[in-house]
Amino acid sequence: SKQEVCDVVIIGAGPSGAIAASILVQAGWNTVVLERETFPRFSIGESLLPHCMEFVKKAGMLDAVNENATKLGFQFKNGAAFFRDGARSEFDFEDKFSEGPGTTFQVKRAAFDKVLADQAAKYGADIRYQHRVDNVVTTEDSATLTVTGPELSYELKAKFVLDASGFGRVLPRLLDLEVPSDLFPRKAIFTHYKDNIAKDAPFDRNKILITVHPQIEDLWYWLIPFSDGTCSLGVVARPECFNDTQSLEDQLRAFINQDTNLASLLSEAEVLQPARMIGGYSANVKSLYGPSYALLGNAGEFLDPVFSSGVTIAMRSAVSAAELVTRQLKGEKIDWQKEYAEPLQKGINVFKTFVTSWYDTSFQNVIFFQSEGAEIKPMITSILAGYAWDEKNPFVKDAHRGIRMLTKLCAD
Ligand code: FAD
Repeated sequence: SKQEVCDVVIIGAGPSGAIAASILVQAGWNTVVLERETFPRFSIGESLLPHCMEFVKKAGMLDAVNENATKLGFQFKNGAAFFRDGARSEFDFEDKFSEGPGTTFQVKRAAFDKVLADQAAKYGADIRYQHRVDNVVTTEDSATLTVTGPELSYELKAKFVLDASGFGRVLPRLLDLEVPSDLFPRKAIFTHYKDNIAKDAPFDRNKILITVHPQIEDLWYWLIPFSDGTCSLGVVARPECFNDTQSLEDQLRAFINQDTNLASLLSEAEVLQPARMIGGYSANVKSLYGPSYALLGNAGEFLDPVFSSGVTIAMRSAVSAAELVTRQLKGEKIDWQKEYAEPLQKGINVFKTFVTSWYDTSFQNVIFFQSEGAEIKPMITSILAGYAWDEKNPFVKDAHRGIRMLTKLCAD
């Protein structure tokens, strides 16, 4: 089979792949995106954070997202609401400490990811659906991929490869980069409902609702409304909390009924699609880069769904890597450790500190304590809005110290 060449190849056309492709083609690089599936395809990860809108804008995709929002059921989102055994707490993203957008959307990812990918294609990215990457050989200045398309297999050689394959984790598997996550393994069951939530119900469609189970403190639910009267509902827990003798639908319903607020909100809900289960999603890698490759988004480290940080981290990594690839291909020597991995990891570690303290309940207590004071709440709101790289925020600069201080404040 003959070998093709291009400047950059991207594995996967999800948010990180589409954003990187868009920036690279606009910088003039011949960019091929290899995507195993045909779009639209289902993906989990439906609640976005305001910070990610900056990356959508940098990639030249903000108009496309805004113009399609109504038609595709994207739900305007301005915050996060939390509920635990009768206690409510709300965070309005517009009140955040950091600069930047204060609103975003909750999206059905099948539709959202297609908008981004189509926009990247409009800018000139060569997106090949149903082309799966099976192997890769990297050298100091090139990467050669073995690709299986719908009709034939072929080799594609590029000066640089970006792995945006998400949970596919193509390069971590092929290049032996996998290391286990140090987060406790959990599972999620989820589905979409026509929610039929009453107009006068105590529910704000502009916010994600995170509910803590009234008895099991590290079991939580997401309720992510869309603007067309449907919603995504999921439950996340330790594996032993699930009863695998029951169907996924029945387990989900049983969990919903254990919380009176959710049971009442979703009393008229109609199931729209078979429930799905995903587990073992937390993952990590030895390195986020190597000779002529870098890992984006979920192909690198994935933490946990609780603060909806996945897409924001994926998009941030995509913008950063695309800019560095451009400089490298122009002949600059790039220090990927200093310029890519370390800055990206800083924000991921901030989220990780908050995730860990969510599950040990110290951060939950902060959320429901609600008297952290007018000065501190905007700083926490900033993190919840995705601004985990803003070092002006003391809770970014030293997240551990921040949580310890808050825990003490709540205990006093
Ligand atoms: P993806 O969106 O996964 O895209 C990867 C693409 O690569 C796919 O289209 C796939 O088909 C393709 N691919 C895979 N293997 C190959 C191959 N061999 N060859 C070619 N193509 C390939 N994030 C949020 O921001 N908000 C949330 O509310 C949220 N909720 C979540 C809930 C759960 C239960 C989980 C597990 C995750 C959640 N996430 C959430 C995280 C979110 O799903 C991911 O962070 C996000 O989708 C990552 O984007 P990506 O571009 O890196 O990868």
